[in-house]
Amino acid sequence: MSHKYNWMDKNDTEVKSCSICNEEIYGMGNNPQPVILNGKKLEVEDSCCRDCNDNVVIPARIQDINNRKDLN
Ligand SMILES: [Zn+2]
Repeated sequence: MSHKYNWMDKNDTEVKSCSICNEEIYGMGNNPQPVILNGKKLEVEDSCCRDCNDNVVIPARIQDINNRKDLN
């Protein structure tokens, strides 16, 4: 079964765009979890660019860890 690229379907795109800033992602995308954007939790498949990973995702992760009350 081969996958045919469907340019009519915006969810089936070869060039991924960042789920946070909508810039094109070059190379491998980053996992945007646990960022919540417009009330929606971003999933691994959403992908984000390296800039957002550094500037948004990592700070969110640090905050998330700090908010975990089950951790000391
Ligand atoms: Zn981005």
